[in-house]
Amino acid sequence: MNVSDSEVVLSVLQQAGYSLCSKITEASLILVNTCSIRDNAEQKIWSRIDYFKSLKKRRKGLTVGILGCMAERLKERLLEQSVVDIVAGPDSYRDLPHLLNELPGGEKQINTILSLEETYADISPVRMDKNGVSAFISIMRGCNNFCSYCVVPYVRGRERSRNPQSILNEAKELFNNGYKEVTLLGQNVNSFNWRATDQQSSFKEDISFSKLLEMVAQISPQLRVRFSTSHPKDMDDSVLTTMVKYSNICRHIHLPVQSGSDSVLKRMNRKYTRKEYLLRLEKIKKMLPDCTISTDIIAGFCGESEQDHLDTLSVMREAGYYTSFMFQYSQRPDTTAAQQLADDVPPRVKNSRLNEIIALQNELSHISNKADLGNEVEVLVEGFSKRSKAELSGRTSQNKVCIFPAGEHKVGDYVKVKVTSCSSATLKGEVIS
Ligand code: SAH
Ligand code: SF4
Repeated sequence: MNVSDSEVVLSVLQQAGYSLCSKITEASLILVNTCSIRDNAEQKIWSRIDYFKSLKKRRKGLTVGILGCMAERLKERLLEQSVVDIVAGPDSYRDLPHLLNELPGGEKQINTILSLEETYADISPVRMDKNGVSAFISIMRGCNNFCSYCVVPYVRGRERSRNPQSILNEAKELFNNGYKEVTLLGQNVNSFNWRATDQQSSFKEDISFSKLLEMVAQISPQLRVRFSTSHPKDMDDSVLTTMVKYSNICRHIHLPVQSGSDSVLKRMNRKYTRKEYLLRLEKIKKMLPDCTISTDIIAGFCGESEQDHLDTLSVMREAGYYTSFMFQYSQRPDTTAAQQLADDVPPRVKNSRLNEIIALQNELSHISNKADLGNEVEVLVEGFSKRSKAELSGRTSQNKVCIFPAGEHKVGDYVKVKVTSCSSATLKGEVIS
């Protein structure tokens, strides 16, 4: 999400006459797009700010701006830092040229007003990830779910869907420029909902997420489509039906479970039970047998007992995740959990539970990859492998990284590969001639 936002910022600034430089020491303006999701994400930025202090001593006229969620959450504290000149929240990027113009000789500039409408729909993001093959498309902003641990609804504001026409135009333009894969992004993509009554709508009917997905998939069978993130409570059958219809919609669903215990899920305000979650998975596996599932897990949430933790381990086994993003619970000020629940799992216990979760996930990833041995997979090449220029690296429709000897193939090609070996992180294979 932040990569995608930074691409919007770059577009706004390029139109105002700025250009990107390759070395931070050459920059006259440094903008940092920040994340508040966990405390350690914020701590990283505080140490970056210390580094900028030393840069500013050496470079006269250097401007430093803090953007994004931390700007929203900690505006006053950031402005107190002598090194910070600009503080701009997630909905105020259009205002950046104005803030920069006002700066010389004047006061520090701040805009952290959250909007009910801003989706940056008409801004064509300037891609920073230069592989030229895969790109993110932001389809909505904000979140209305208020999971009790999560700061997102407070720092990114209310959920709003972007005009589908602008999403389609962006996807088509990417495809015409040689891109082969787009990932539709939102905090909860399944609740995408564009109303026909919205101003300037070129659609006569409301556009749901499954409809949007279908329209993007129809651009070309040569364009892979991914999406993230799905909330289990909103992931309905219509999305699965659309996936079945279009083989270019990738066979991978990121479906964050967070915990395997009903009492923890309730305290998290996730609005589904373990059973409902597993029924969803059953349906996915029935309709899309070759679909992989990944997840997010939080270890050591408020009141989590040893049994709750064991329930998380068992849900992981039942789901057979091919990969997971795993975190220790980090209390975020002002969230419902911070206000109403005690952060009572000791750090040592959080850490050991997280380690058990990571160890299990490694095991599950290896099992999932081993099941692919001997299979034929289609890889979209994204670049060279980290180890050697003689090998290419890309992903399968199931989102697994696969490495194979380059031969005549190049970045952007779809290559049929037979999987011959694997680790828990990667598949290795041979090109099928
Ligand atoms: N909208 C997405 C998640 C966005 S945040 C969804 O609901 O699935 C990405 C992940 O960060 C979350 O899924 C959760 O696992 C983790 N996370 C969010 N707040 C956290 C916190 N306070 N402590 C630890 N992990 C957190
Ligand atoms: Fe946070 Fe929940 Fe919204 Fe995801 S759905 S961004 S976890 S509040």
